[in-house]
This record gives sequence, C-alpha cells and structure tokens, in this order.
Amino acid sequence: MCVFCKIVDKQIPAEIVYEDDKYLAFKDINPKAPTHILIIPKKHIESFHLVKDKDDKKLVKWLLDIAWEIIDQQNLPGCQLHMNSWSDHGQEVPHIHLHLLSKDKTSIKW
Ligand code: AMP
Ligand code: ZN
Repeated sequence: MCVFCKIVDKQIPAEIVYEDDKYLAFKDINPKAPTHILIIPKKHIESFHLVKDKDDKKLVKWLLDIAWEIIDQQNLPGCQLHMNSWSDHGQEVPHIHLHLLSKDKTSIKW
C-alpha cells in the first residue's frame, strides 16, 4: 500500500483539511510554502499518465473542485497548483496528487 493510501486508511497520521467519500486533502509534511496542501482521490491511481478510463478522468478533473473548496473555505487570495507525473518529472509519491501552495498563510485554524 502506498503512503497516501495509508493516510486514506488512517494507518498513518496526517493533518487533514478536507475529506469526503472520494477525496482527501492534507498538509504536506515538508511544506514548500506557508500553505502547502495535497489533494488526492482516495482511489489509488499511480500517475496522471495512467488515467485512461472516463470515470477516472472525471475523478481527477474534480480535484480542482476540491481546490476551489479549500481556497474559499480558507480565504486564500492566491495560489499555485501543480501536479507531477512520473518520477523523472518530480513525482515522488506514486498516487495522483494535486499540490496547492500559497504564500499566504491561512487565517483560519485548520
Ligand atoms: P511529489 O513530488 O509531487 O510526488 O510530491 C509528494 C509530496 O508528498 C512531497 O511534497 C512530500 O513532502 C509529500 N509527502 C510525502 N510523504 C508525506 C506524508 N506522510 N504526509 C504528508 N505529505 C507527504
Ligand atoms: Zn495509493
């Protein structure tokens, strides 16, 4: 089981900022900005490049909805969104995740 599946499974702790039946968002353990959140589908999909199935594509596209939700909820005035795909392009954890970074620290306690 990958490290993010273990977080989904609550086998290892994380600072969760959003959760529903299909998605989870939590603080990056090694933040590169004052706000650094990872948004993942609970379903284990290794890489953006492996998304071929129509339903999986929908699942991955909706990661942006969770980003909007967090931006609104936390009132973040600006952000950077990115996703790495494959280890030779910076992907360390083999479970799709969208990075949400902001130089603004959220004013709301998680
Ligand atoms: P990437 O390089 O795109 O695969 O990003 C993986 C991110 O996961 C990195 O920014 C790591 O700091 C982060 N990370 C790795 N393990 C954990 C963990 N247990 N909890 C939270 N974030 C993690
Ligand atoms: Zn996984």
